[in-house]
Amino acid sequence: MKDNILKKEFSKKDVQRARNLVTGNTGARITEGVGYTKKYEHHIEGDVWEENGRTWTIKNGLKQNITKMDKFKKIGKLPLFCPNCNTLMKKHLDKKVFPAYQKCFDCIVDYEAQLEKEGKSEEYFNNLKNQHIQFAINGYKEFMKDQMEQSNANYITEAGDVENWNGGKSKEELERELQEGIEFLENLKVE
Ligand SMILES: [Zn+2]
Repeated sequence: MKDNILKKEFSKKDVQRARNLVTGNTGARITEGVGYTKKYEHHIEGDVWEENGRTWTIKNGLKQNITKMDKFKKIGKLPLFCPNCNTLMKKHLDKKVFPAYQKCFDCIVDYEAQLEKEGKSEEYFNNLKNQHIQFAINGYKEFMKDQMEQSNANYITEAGDVENWNGGKSKEELERELQEGIEFLENLKVE
């Protein structure tokens, strides 16, 4: 009997603690009694807040970790000079092609023209296509990993606004989607 009461108390406090973590209400007293306090903050698109030692925002309806978003942006960061020809990279196209090619647009054009002359362009373009697909797969994995972490954190609250941030998808659903997505992209690769 005493065991049961202890278990009940523990689970109530545990749930409250978890809710406080999710809603950023970490300083709040863990209340006794039935139910939980309704006093948690609602966050809307563009809000920025501290929670569980991290900074969060809501972008496109999704709760997102700002540190991670910054890291994600850095993947596509453009160095000042092309590592291949050392000229200043400033064109819009340089920015677009650099993450996949690691050189400027002019370098790519020159290189491809050279391969064409040597009759090696088919192999090159097949490889390139596969590289692009792999690049997409890596980015997709990273994105989905992030979504799954959000999904776990949000799952705790069960009710209301927090759950809606990720469209209410479970970790299992997201994992299945991830596998299907990877499979689809892998099949696009050239043998
Ligand atoms: Zn270059």
